[in-house]
Amino acid sequence: MKVSVIGAGDVGATTAYALVMRGVCREIVLVDLNKERARAEADDILHAVPFTHPVRISAGDYADIRGSRVVIITAGAAQKPGETRLELLARNASIFRSIVPQVIEYARDSIILVATNPVDVLTHLTADIADKYGIHRSRVIGSGTTLDTARFRALLGEHLGIDPQHVHGYVLGEHGDSEFIPWSLITVGGVPLDEFCRQWDICTDDAVKAMIEQQVRDAAYAIINGKGSTYYGIGSALSRIVEVILRDQRALLTVCTPIRELSGISNVTVSLPHLVGGQGILDTILLPLNLDETEETKLRASAEVVKQAYESMYAA
Ligand code: NAD
Repeated sequence: MKVSVIGAGDVGATTAYALVMRGVCREIVLVDLNKERARAEADDILHAVPFTHPVRISAGDYADIRGSRVVIITAGAAQKPGETRLELLARNASIFRSIVPQVIEYARDSIILVATNPVDVLTHLTADIADKYGIHRSRVIGSGTTLDTARFRALLGEHLGIDPQHVHGYVLGEHGDSEFIPWSLITVGGVPLDEFCRQWDICTDDAVKAMIEQQVRDAAYAIINGKGSTYYGIGSALSRIVEVILRDQRALLTVCTPIRELSGISNVTVSLPHLVGGQGILDTILLPLNLDETEETKLRASAEVVKQAYESMYAA
């Protein structure tokens, strides 16, 4: 099975490497404006293949993405230190208007997986373009808060002394400053978090929750300040989403896709738990009914941030 990655920068190359390590596909094609970089990354990753899984990896042009089951878009400008994801929008929207039609021309049957920031708005833009070509929106997936959810589960798991795989909770909303954690929905071993912490005598009061939430929200800024960009977490998240698609695993992931109506806001793209499988987004868990009042207000506020950014992109 073939996967293509458009944008062979830090995120694209790390994603390709993570795909090789995970061993979920047989062929990877890297496409980048900077052909030399794409070729160098493909060669470097190829040298890891004898130690891992048999995968063909090469650099190419759009014509070479033909037959891909998934096309991952990581191309675009990266966040500069101090820059918000939404400030990146104007630069990356115009890049997407040139990339997405070419992806559709050469790999019409693929699932398009978007990672470039601001990922919510660019996923919506990609779905709009796909619509024009008669491709169903469910075949466009944004990585959304998949990475933030992983960061959150890692931090909470560490605080509780429990493998994060057994901590069930999500980060919802924008992949950005307005994202939030719906604490009322978190369970550990099937037990609501607060009840679990009472039983095990672990302090997870409001101050601890606020600290964890802040660390999740600021993680990208802290990493970018320290080393220029983030790529291991997102590369692993994208390779996991690809695995779910290629193996039709019907996993619940906090990816993003345009939602017809959310808490009174129409046609907006934010992350909620979505059922993902071989055909893309299969269904959405519409959470507002399960959230408490404060959480619903946060979800609505986050959706408003993304909606405004989306509208500003069309107004520009
Ligand atoms: P990078 O600068 O290292 O790589 C970007 C690559 O895109 C470059 O190699 C560049 O040549 C290429 N490119 C630019 N325009 C192109 C075009 N028109 N066609 C083909 N290739 C083109 O940046 P990076 O660190 O890899 O980050 C890439 C994107 O991923 C950024 O927008 C970043 O904010 C985003 N990101 C998202 C998440 C997430 O959770 N969704 C996490 C980390 C980074």
